[in-house]
Amino acid sequence: MDIQPHIFFFPFMGHGHTIPIIEMANQFASRGCRATIISTPANAPDAIKSIETRQLGLEIGVVLIKFPSKEVGLPEGCENTNSLTTKDMIQKFYVAATMLDQQLEQLLSEHRPTCLVASAFFPWANQIAAKYGIPRIVFHGTSSFALCAYASLFREQPHKKVSSDSEPFIIPNLPDEIKITRQQLQDHLKEESEVTDFVRKVKESELTSFGVIVNSYYELEAAYADHYRNFFGMKAWHVGPTFLCSQGKENKALRGKESSINEHECLKWLDAKKPNSVVYVCFGSVAKFDDAQLKEIAIGLEASGKQFIWVVKKDKHEEGKEEDWLPEGFEKRMEGKGLIITGWAPQLLILQHEAVGGFVTHCGWNSTLEGVCAGLPMVTWPVAAEQFYNEKLVTQILRIGVGVGVEKWARLTGDSVKREAIVKAVNKIMESEEAEEMRSRAKALGVLAGEAVKEGGSSYTDLSALIEELKLQRAGSGSNRKDQLP
Ligand code: UDP
Repeated sequence: MDIQPHIFFFPFMGHGHTIPIIEMANQFASRGCRATIISTPANAPDAIKSIETRQLGLEIGVVLIKFPSKEVGLPEGCENTNSLTTKDMIQKFYVAATMLDQQLEQLLSEHRPTCLVASAFFPWANQIAAKYGIPRIVFHGTSSFALCAYASLFREQPHKKVSSDSEPFIIPNLPDEIKITRQQLQDHLKEESEVTDFVRKVKESELTSFGVIVNSYYELEAAYADHYRNFFGMKAWHVGPTFLCSQGKENKALRGKESSINEHECLKWLDAKKPNSVVYVCFGSVAKFDDAQLKEIAIGLEASGKQFIWVVKKDKHEEGKEEDWLPEGFEKRMEGKGLIITGWAPQLLILQHEAVGGFVTHCGWNSTLEGVCAGLPMVTWPVAAEQFYNEKLVTQILRIGVGVGVEKWARLTGDSVKREAIVKAVNKIMESEEAEEMRSRAKALGVLAGEAVKEGGSSYTDLSALIEELKLQRAGSGSNRKDQLP
């Protein structure tokens, strides 16, 4: 009798993790597995809605754990990275995330799933899973390129050998010559801190895990997928792009959160535009810019002369304080020409509309992958996390984007970028000769992505291999990664 694997998914509480993990659960379920997603009370309603629109009779469930916001001094209900507004809140959020171990243990001991796919931010999940003989798979939520670049920097520490923060140096041992500066690296790489210790634990847990699951596809970054496996010795499955496995208008509209704009209204606005005439500007779910930077973007977009959809993430204004992030008369002048969405945008629907011809992105991995699959040239504007590595992939390896010129890694609010740089970069992806070349390269990559997830494609086959291994594991004859290392 064939054994039905039951996969538990434990995403970190940020949209960059929850969105692809819900899609991944859908992928596994559509291939005959049972899937259960671990969520928290404030995140669950959106997760359940997303699952319900995709489900089509698939076996996907949600189980709840409590997120200890209050215990660490965060406001009640603050259970997602997109509600974080200060560095202090970020720190507390990560502390709260380390306090979920006992609840995970309770669930695993009760349900005894075949496997646990958990975000990399839960390094302790390995030991808990191992206690019950459950293999743990790590999900980083980024590209193979970024995984290789980061692993190399963490291991070799080349940034300690340069004389200044702005001196470019080569990231060692990569298949291509990629240069970066110290000021573009995460803080914990530059200075030893508690976060560095935490990352060490993440790295160790990677090595003792069953393997790593990557939301990317082999053809996009083959040299780096191979390098990650062969040079860094990691067992990895590339099963993405996850969102291509659950297409359909509702699925595309309802990802992560309910949109702040009616999606029909948004699509109607785009329907009236010529192909490739609108630039879409969005910086993901976490990054928030200050009023001065927002105003600079507004001026830059107006000066570019291009039509745009611009997604703005803003905190509630202090009472009595004037909002001051749009130039005088901007909205009136931009009527019909520019659409501002304050809050959550139906990003995938927008990117895949033929009127959209370019994407200004913070290079979060999901956004990057969505831009690639929509065949769009990109302006890269990295802010934090591993976004500077993804920028290099887009601009130097795939050659489908131009950098806006961000110099410094910043945790939440971003390095400041001037209007002239915005105009120059937007024009370059929207109307230059190079724009057409970038677009045609991106379109070809988009076609390859579609092939990868089809039956017989690379991602489809990798997922089949993983499911087969898990079945063997369940039958008691599987082996973990360490047994397979030379
Ligand atoms: N997203 C969206 N609407 C928004 C902002 C983001 O649908 O207004 C989605 C986007 O399509 C992507 C995810 O949220 O799938 C953001 O993940 P990413 O890795 O790009 O960036 P992060 O938010 O983790 O910085």
